[in-house]
Amino acid sequence: MIYALQYFLQFSKSPNAIFGFLKVYFGMLDGLLAAEQLPEEYRDRCQDILCNDCEKKGRSRFHWLYHKCGFCGSYNTRVIKTDTAECSTSN
Ligand SMILES: [Zn+2]
Repeated sequence: MIYALQYFLQFSKSPNAIFGFLKVYFGMLDGLLAAEQLPEEYRDRCQDILCNDCEKKGRSRFHWLYHKCGFCGSYNTRVIKTDTAECSTSN
């Protein structure tokens, strides 16, 4: 994500274009993750994440790379804790 964004920013100084790019990019990730099947042992796991965009803490379904913020929909997040307990959210 970061590399794609940096690449894009070299060619655009417009905040609207950047916002549009992120919307498309996050939408693409939505589709990607929806189509992806995690191994059974990971499917019910959750991770606590911190969103770099809205700075809220939340939970996300386990994934190696991508974690979606439940508040603003951004993937610009980082994992602060991996929980082995069952994930109670439907997200
Ligand atoms: Zn957020």
